[in-house]
Amino acid sequence: MVCYKCGEAAVGVCKFCGRGVCMEHHTTTLPTMLCMYLGSHETPKAVVVSDVLWCGDCRPQPEPIEMPEFY
Ligand SMILES: [Zn+2]
Ligand SMILES: [Zn+2]
Repeated sequence: MVCYKCGEAAVGVCKFCGRGVCMEHHTTTLPTMLCMYLGSHETPKAVVVSDVLWCGDCRPQPEPIEMPEFY
């Protein structure tokens, strides 16, 4: 598997479009909420992963993400 931009060895694939991306070209700016739970006190808390592998080119979510598993 190689980076689709430069052909170097890819460190992973874009979570959204599936293209391979290397360490230099991957982007990690789209937080993905893994789960939400109620803390032992007041406020709901969400577990957020902020280092989701993203190629930086695709625009996978023009609208709010559907999460059918919540229903
Ligand atoms: Zn690259
Ligand atoms: Zn992508």
